[in-house]
Amino acid sequence: MTKFSDFALAEPIQKAIAQGGYTSPTPIQQQAIPPALEGKDILGIAQTGTGKTAAFSLPSIHHLLNSKKRAGRFECRMLVLAPTRELARQIADSMTGYSKGLGMYVTSAFGGVPINRQKRILERGVDVLVATPGRLLDLVDQRYLNLSKVEILVLDEADQMLDLGFIVPLKKIVPLLPKQRQSLFFSATMPKTISQLADQFLTNPVQVSVAPQSTTAERVDQRVTYINQDDKQRLLKDFINNENPDHMLVFTQTKHAADKVVKNLMAVGIHSAAIHGNKSQPQRERALGDFKKGKINILVATDIAARGIDVDGITHVINFDMPNVSEQYVHRIGRTARAGASGISYSMVAPDERQFLRDVVKLTGVKPDVIALPEGYDEPPREEVAPRIYGQKPKKYGATPIRNGPSKNKHSARKGRPGGGGSGRGGPGSSAGAKSDGPKHWNNGAKSFKRRQARKADA
Ligand code: AMP
Repeated sequence: MTKFSDFALAEPIQKAIAQGGYTSPTPIQQQAIPPALEGKDILGIAQTGTGKTAAFSLPSIHHLLNSKKRAGRFECRMLVLAPTRELARQIADSMTGYSKGLGMYVTSAFGGVPINRQKRILERGVDVLVATPGRLLDLVDQRYLNLSKVEILVLDEADQMLDLGFIVPLKKIVPLLPKQRQSLFFSATMPKTISQLADQFLTNPVQVSVAPQSTTAERVDQRVTYINQDDKQRLLKDFINNENPDHMLVFTQTKHAADKVVKNLMAVGIHSAAIHGNKSQPQRERALGDFKKGKINILVATDIAARGIDVDGITHVINFDMPNVSEQYVHRIGRTARAGASGISYSMVAPDERQFLRDVVKLTGVKPDVIALPEGYDEPPREEVAPRIYGQKPKKYGATPIRNGPSKNKHSARKGRPGGGGSGRGGPGSSAGAKSDGPKHWNNGAKSFKRRQARKADA
């Protein structure tokens, strides 16, 4: 088995790793650290939770230590670009830990907090700057940062960068960097747009990759329930009361929806907090801190705010709203089932979100279990409407498409559903369902998940 001592990392870094309690390198670290130590560019495909921060930080700190240069005023020697402030802060914290006792100055710069303190720090020069692209460009524009001496560049969570519309700032940043540098580029997914972006940053990179999307997707116990949008708040409350989750992350599409979920939960005495872009930095940190400490069990987040949330032991991920980008679904459910653990994801799918679910199944190759609605809920209509694109008329799909069932015809679809087919929801009549034992009841499903957990614990 590979050990950290197998890598040619400087002694003080080895010490910091041991103090941090890491005993052996994770797969991405095993793959990335040796070529990175040789000064090669890296193209890494890895999700959060795989140990990728240490994979790019440890060899970089080694290099900074060995090259013995000093950062001049308004300069940084290593630049790490991250899509969100949470992630930037987290990377800076990790890098501070990995470089403990080495006299290295690590700082972060992101929006949402006053810029003046960041300016004062940069005036002296820093070894490592972890920044979000927007704030970085502000600092450059205001002449508080000169990127011409960057020795190492890291671009983390590149796919999120693109999703969040950072392509233009990134393109502005590239020409400000020296051509002679080492670049390390990480992304959870590698669609064509990302590999094209990588080409602009990297020179003859070594490609490393772990945990393809399906691996995460397969480890998570995925469930879906077809429901009317207006019933989701109620179902969420019922689900929480039934499951008593330890650490549950609920995703909504909008900030407004996140606030509304928290309000409704609080109204029935269920403690929760929301994090999203309209919350101030202290509010976000407090909510995240309370969640990590277990003061609250439920955190409601938008995708953007959830990036970089590094909480181990998330037991449940709820898609209160389905993400409209399939990769986002994989990111979301990857928040649970980390470090080899298992977890449950539960998606509430309204009629106009079914297409998103089909896209997810196509991407992951995994069909979530369909959990029947509890008693007392209205059945959602079988007919679905395509997600509306601004300026276009909504498109009718007609009968629920049957990908796995015997027929694409509405009536035969009903016949084709094992278990009577009376409910008009779920079962193999849905693209995501398709388990031959028909829809489960969600309470039963939850219990069987707990039983499975107990069995795993016994084993
Ligand atoms: P990351 O993917 O960088 O966000 O890391 C996920 C988590 O794994 C963090 O809590 C790290 O502190 C932790 N971690 C990283 N490398 C190791 C390792 N070699 N052994 C144990 N934990 C690690």
